[in-house]
Amino acid sequence: MVRPTTVPSLCDHTLDSLAQQLLDWDEPASHAPRLLRAFYQSHGHPDWSTQPISRKLQHRLATDVAPRSSKLLTTHTSADGTQKLLLSFDTGTVESVLMPGHRPGVAAGCISSQIGCAMGCDFCASTRDGFVANLTAGQIIDQFLHLRHHAAAIGRRLQTVVFMGMGEPMLNLPAVIEAIARMTHSSMGNLGAGRITVSTVGIVPGIDALAACGHKVQLALSLHAPDDPTRARLVPMNRRYGIDEIMAAAKRYQQRTGRFVNIEYCLLNEINDSPDHARQLARLMEGFRAHVNIIPYNPIGPSLSGVNYQRPTPQRLEQFVQILRDHAVVTHTRHPRGDQINAACGQLRRQSITTPAVADGPAVPMAQSRPTGPARESVQS
Ligand code: SF4
Repeated sequence: MVRPTTVPSLCDHTLDSLAQQLLDWDEPASHAPRLLRAFYQSHGHPDWSTQPISRKLQHRLATDVAPRSSKLLTTHTSADGTQKLLLSFDTGTVESVLMPGHRPGVAAGCISSQIGCAMGCDFCASTRDGFVANLTAGQIIDQFLHLRHHAAAIGRRLQTVVFMGMGEPMLNLPAVIEAIARMTHSSMGNLGAGRITVSTVGIVPGIDALAACGHKVQLALSLHAPDDPTRARLVPMNRRYGIDEIMAAAKRYQQRTGRFVNIEYCLLNEINDSPDHARQLARLMEGFRAHVNIIPYNPIGPSLSGVNYQRPTPQRLEQFVQILRDHAVVTHTRHPRGDQINAACGQLRRQSITTPAVADGPAVPMAQSRPTGPARESVQS
């Protein structure tokens, strides 16, 4: 665990809070944008001696301000290049995943919004030990900077970020929105809002609140079944917000933001992958400008309810996708990433809780350098 510090990490600061901190130190508040820009551009490892600020402030920033509030416990790298990071905060451990893009030079990052998860999706490892804590905006930014740093270490740029790691982002929305504000601010992360995706199992008030926040990020809806009985079995929150209600909320999101909505569908063998399921899903998509992402399940052993879900056969997968395409539904198949490194969400953290973590090497030295029980998908970048 990382010991709490009296002065917040720079991940925790907004422009206003850092300006106030500078005033408290008898330094010009006008340095705040410069300092945060240097912090984010260096992925959290600035060389303050190169900044045009007083020696006293350089020293203070180097000695009194913790660059990070997390400690990198392990980095696991899969044969496909996917890196899974296990980070320790003073409130618990989280997972973040870096996925090299198919195009050279870019990568996608998957970020957690909570420690553990209360949603109880039957196929998901993140929820096995329940909900532990919400992450702060600073802890979310901490993951973002770790991913940027690791992307840079392999010669890539973190081009997209998805909130598809541990947790339900809509249940920690103030922190998620604040983190998005920092990721997109020109003096901070400087990432386009369209390159950020927030995924939800369908918390309707959260979808409406995200639409109203003004950031116009992408929305991903973890649907996983086209009918209420099947979906309620997989995603218990469906008993609170049924399919008609969440599809209506997704359409409102699209009308308000102009963004395409991604429908995430984890394909489970002989559970939700029949031709009839495909036709029902196609009917739900009628008149809706959404993309359907099919994610073949990544087996994680017995589910919460004791079911051993399996990945569908290639024939069933192909048939399902073909039916959707025959109905003019824009459909992509996302292939699982990082199978060898427990990349289904929550697996690495769970392993670290139950057994000592074994990394593929020492964590990358920082100075150098929803899913979803469903498989961590291959995010286009
Ligand atoms: S799939 Fe997502 S929302 Fe469902 S239990 Fe796992 S982390 Fe939570």
